[in-house]
Amino acid sequence: MAGLVAARTLVLGGARVTLLEASDRLGGTVAQQTVGGILLDAGAESFATRRGTVARLATSLGLAEDVVEPTAKQEWLRRADGSTVPLPAVSLLGIPGVPLASDVLSVVGPRVAFRALLDELIPGTVGARSTTLGQLVRARMGQGLLDELVAPVTQGLHSRHPDDLDLDRIAPGLRQALLREGSLARAVRDLQTSATAEAPIAGIRGGVHRLVIELAADLQRFGVDVRLGSRVTAVEEGAVQVGGERLEGSVLIAAPHLLGRVKPDETLTVVTLVVDSPELDAAPRGGGVLVAEGGARPLTLIHATVKWPWLGERVGPGRHVIRVSYRGRATAKQATADAEQLLGVALATVVDSAVVEWRRPAAQGPAPEGVWVTGQATSGTGLAAVVGHATATAEALLERLAHL
Ligand SMILES: Cc1cc2nc3c(=O)[nH]c(=O)nc-3n(C[C@H](O)[C@H](O)[C@H](O)COP(=O)(O)OP(=O)(O)OC[C@H]3O[C@@H](n4cnc5c(N)ncnc54)[C@H](O)[C@@H]3O)c2cc1C
Repeated sequence: MAGLVAARTLVLGGARVTLLEASDRLGGTVAQQTVGGILLDAGAESFATRRGTVARLATSLGLAEDVVEPTAKQEWLRRADGSTVPLPAVSLLGIPGVPLASDVLSVVGPRVAFRALLDELIPGTVGARSTTLGQLVRARMGQGLLDELVAPVTQGLHSRHPDDLDLDRIAPGLRQALLREGSLARAVRDLQTSATAEAPIAGIRGGVHRLVIELAADLQRFGVDVRLGSRVTAVEEGAVQVGGERLEGSVLIAAPHLLGRVKPDETLTVVTLVVDSPELDAAPRGGGVLVAEGGARPLTLIHATVKWPWLGERVGPGRHVIRVSYRGRATAKQATADAEQLLGVALATVVDSAVVEWRRPAAQGPAPEGVWVTGQATSGTGLAAVVGHATATAEALLERLAHL
């Protein structure tokens, strides 16, 4: 996505662009698959709406009418003790806006909730210099709330512990709201009611992989030289090495592995099940379930035909799409058993299934002088971050080219 967006920005800005893609298809972790005859996303399936970044891209690609909100039905949390409870209605990344609300108490219990309430009594500056989300929540609301609410939500949504999430990237404006409001709970309430009356995430009717289809069409239309099966093996200022050939020009890297690994890779597995199960028409777990660490093994279950009304309509009653994500490997059989447990429903007939393994990219090493870098290892994960950063980086490069 970063490479496609950067290439499009550059070519629209008047540059002559060659796009080198190692694999035999464009899109990276935004990909499509057909399961049970239904065309579905295989990787990313939604995007954060913050700053309107991805919606703006979708609009410029002619997909404005197809940007859709997920169902308003509540999401659920599978706790470590095996019980499944609705996530607090007023919350941001699991941080409660009202620590003593009954839907918070039912998840974390009174001891943890009262500790979280301390947030309202301590100075607003406590934790305000945190670099990670984990530090902030621990400082203001305590370890228990971090473990039982915030970590399951971020692990389910972003496959990362709050201690590994940069505060300003994952929750833009939260630090400022804390300083303004003097409490984290009030900051959450403020952010929920003011700026974002819209849902925090959105999707594309037909799947977010449509962004890749439209981007690829634009690159072709505007004359970008797109070369699949072209793995870049070396990078320096003004040139790259690809399959024994040296290509010269300004270099913008959007491939996370290219600059050397700092951290080991991690595998994420997405199992998609298409099932016939009329009991699921009642949406027993709303749009899905996030799983607390120490509980069942999946990270998250998405009831896709409920989460995305367009998909439910397309598939029709009785048939459902369930997507179960794991850290590490998993099988369709295991996912079926986990889905039954998480949904509390026996899945009568599994019509079809697909298992896709994704490698989470390692953090990248430093770029050589004079080489431009974007992509999720630089911008942070998620399409909103990736698209915004790729656009800005390509614009900066255009500016530089204009002055050469
Ligand atoms: C299972 C899964 C679900 C996700 N769900 C969501 C979601 O719902 N919402 C959301 O916002 N985000 C989601 N994400 C994250 C999101 O998909 C990514 O943050 C984003 O797509 C990353 O884009 P990218 O261009 O930086 O990297 P990638 O998608 O990893 O693309 C990198 C590209 O570089 C190519 N490449 C690698 N090395 C070379 C080389 N040497 N030479 C040439 N090409 C090379 C690769 O083949 C690939 O095409 C999800 C990720 C996964 C894995």
